[in-house]
Amino acid sequence: MAAKDTTPMMKQYYEIKQQYPDAFLFYRVGDFYELFEDDAVKGAQILELTLTHRSNKTKNPIPMAGVPHLAVDTYVNTLVEKGYKVALCEQLEDPKKAKGMVKRGIIQLVTPGTMMEQRPDQAKDTNYLTSVVSTASGFGFAYSDLSTGETFATHLKDWEAVANELLSLQTREVVFDGPLSVQNKDFLQKANITVSNPVKLDEEHAEISYVVQKLSNSAEVKAAKQLVSYLLSTQKRSLAHLQVAQSYEPTQYLQMSHVVQTNLELIKNAKTGKKMGSLFWLLDKTSTAMGGRLLKSWIERPLLSSSEIKKRQDMVQALFDDYFTRENVIDSLKGVYDLERLTGRIAFGSVNAREMLQLAHSLAAVPVILDSLKQSNNEHLVDFAKNIDPLSGVQDLIEKTIVDNPPLLTTEGGIIREGVDEQLDRYRDAMTNGKKWISEMEASERAKTGINNLKVGFNKVFGYYIEVTNSNKTKVPTDRYTRKQTLTNAERYITPELKEHEALILEAESRSTDLEYDIFVKLREDVKKYIPALQKLAKQIASLDVLTAFSTVSEQNNYVRPTMTSDDNEINVVNGRHPVVEQVMSAGSFIPNDIKMTKGTDIFLITGPNMSGKSTYMRQMALIAIMAQVGCFVPADSATLPIFDQIFTRIGAADDLISGQSTFMVEMSEANEALQHATKRSLVLFDEIGRGTATYDGMALAGAIVKYLHDKVGAKTLFATHYHELTDLDQTLEHLENIHVGATEENGKLIFLHKILPGPADQSYGIHVAQLAGLPRKVLREANTMLHRLEKQGAGSLQPASEQLDLFNEPEVADSEQDSISSDEKDVLDAIQNLYLADKTPLQI
Ligand code: ADP
Repeated sequence: MAAKDTTPMMKQYYEIKQQYPDAFLFYRVGDFYELFEDDAVKGAQILELTLTHRSNKTKNPIPMAGVPHLAVDTYVNTLVEKGYKVALCEQLEDPKKAKGMVKRGIIQLVTPGTMMEQRPDQAKDTNYLTSVVSTASGFGFAYSDLSTGETFATHLKDWEAVANELLSLQTREVVFDGPLSVQNKDFLQKANITVSNPVKLDEEHAEISYVVQKLSNSAEVKAAKQLVSYLLSTQKRSLAHLQVAQSYEPTQYLQMSHVVQTNLELIKNAKTGKKMGSLFWLLDKTSTAMGGRLLKSWIERPLLSSSEIKKRQDMVQALFDDYFTRENVIDSLKGVYDLERLTGRIAFGSVNAREMLQLAHSLAAVPVILDSLKQSNNEHLVDFAKNIDPLSGVQDLIEKTIVDNPPLLTTEGGIIREGVDEQLDRYRDAMTNGKKWISEMEASERAKTGINNLKVGFNKVFGYYIEVTNSNKTKVPTDRYTRKQTLTNAERYITPELKEHEALILEAESRSTDLEYDIFVKLREDVKKYIPALQKLAKQIASLDVLTAFSTVSEQNNYVRPTMTSDDNEINVVNGRHPVVEQVMSAGSFIPNDIKMTKGTDIFLITGPNMSGKSTYMRQMALIAIMAQVGCFVPADSATLPIFDQIFTRIGAADDLISGQSTFMVEMSEANEALQHATKRSLVLFDEIGRGTATYDGMALAGAIVKYLHDKVGAKTLFATHYHELTDLDQTLEHLENIHVGATEENGKLIFLHKILPGPADQSYGIHVAQLAGLPRKVLREANTMLHRLEKQGAGSLQPASEQLDLFNEPEVADSEQDSISSDEKDVLDAIQNLYLADKTPLQI
């Protein structure tokens, strides 16, 4: 760093900057926030500001860049969205009144996890700050969205679970209490998560005890306390909207890892990373931003309790059946603003008068919604309405206080109605009378002086003045008028009387804006008392919004209410469809398929040409299960489903964010997840397992995995494979059934039927698919010849590499190594060795 500027201001700057070394320091000077030193150089580059230098007496001028204070939010957001932190340093006293250096201090530290100002297109996004503490038995984990105050806590057994939860929540920032390993640091960096240190607070804060009041697990309490302490210390204000932390166990919901959620494209399309093409996109017919956010969290955490599912289904059914009530509810919901975030802004103190009115207008919509529900005469809708308190008192309070069209700024008056406060009305009278006096004076002066175009004007520098054009200058009564300003065409004058009235007007004006602000703050404090009630109401409205959206989507797309069975482990979906693929295809062209797995069947081994629809069929099953467990209807003619406890997938593009492993390693890790953790009540989707390694290796592993799932796990499994040889497994595995996707050949061309049929596929049609993909004729001809040769010469013609065969010899491992193989792993190895690959037919590529 260059030699320091030792002026008092820069001394103050360095003192403050020292406390926030990892943040951009925005230092308020008059109407600007200034950045100095490295902050200025880096900030100028990122924010496209002009880099200047502060001239000082030393030889090394200090780099400097500034942003106007009115536009500061945009600049702060840009930096924070990029993962940086910004410390806002304000003047804490009026510079005019300050003796010596103006007092300054940090009023807020804006960080990625505490950003409140969202762009309109982020209304349906959550922004979670997460706190993690390590304990002897694992980790305490808590998170909160500062904009809504929603807070959750759980405890997790290992780092993998923590990483998974961080990714699922799409958290931007984690407060972590311990040292991080290089690998974990690397993961957080790759996942674009800012790591922050915990903060110890000196005093007790009511928010902390409030938030943790219902937590009993000590790790959760610790994590939640760390979370709230960090929020208080960065935001530097009371946070009355923080909600009581809800403790949750990941096992309370249908569990899906982040990888599974990504593979199934629940929230985002895997290719584009956008909402379009995801399940969330399909179901999101919500009318409010809070409904959108709630829907997302429902999709990520489908239910396990059949009674809870039934409750949602009953509401969806009622709204599905009653078109008029549904339409009325939707109409009214459109008038509801983001109650949750408005409540947050009230607590935070950043709400303006317009937003206050938005709250009132939203509350005004509630009784209309409740009336619609009650008039439906449907018991579920009526009961739902009965439990809602519309908080009409809050609406009245706001509407009585705030004018119909208030300005954006709360500090410049014009926001409080007449009749609210006597003193305010008196100031306003004084202003009106003063202004009336001035316009009367204008008229009388015209008469007295005979200057017809004489006018009284006002500007901020000179206040009120009398303006006379040059042509009339001679008529000015110089004994009464004092000249104040000369313009090209006119002269401006004042009189003692005019100044007297000006003082009265300005005094009244300034007092009245101050008083208006005080009244506004009081209103905000009064409304603050209703925060928990407003938050409850917001949740109720949000869930009504989601349930209404479910009924709309279900009706529009011909979905059916599924029957959920809690003890029968049977799947019976008649004419099921893939909900998203169906939408993007032209109407009626999606071919429906049944999914019938009786109690006796656990595994469907699916064969069929590439591109025939195997993976669509499998995903269809998972999406139908998820839709059913969030309470929505499903795309089928009828559906009976068990309640799944977990979903595992090995599908599609590998996501190696956590481990940085090779594709095959990821494939195996995902398979292992299922083998180790799936239960009889789980759903397992394996697509082309073993593809990432050599043929025999892959086939052996695929076969062994199927056998293990069959013998040891018993989960409902859809297993698509191009290893045709595996279809023989139905001879030995009682609960396995072969199915295939039909295709026919016409004039040497392949026609996909997209229809699921019993039994194995006879060919894998690889060369036809290659033809469809437009491979050169020469390659296709060559492949055909080779295929015929392989078919004629049999298995002997394949010479697998010797090291691959080694896998099936007894492994020569030292005792200590052998001990390190878990019994589950040993079972898998045994199964691989027991597969008689020599009996297999040659691969039909
Ligand atoms: P596979 O997994 O067998 O390679 P996919 O499931 O990826 O095949 O399906 C390939 C394409 O076939 C899909 O993108 C879709 O356009 C179409 N498809 C799949 N299933 C159906 C269906 N049931 N009805 C109509 N088209 C389908």
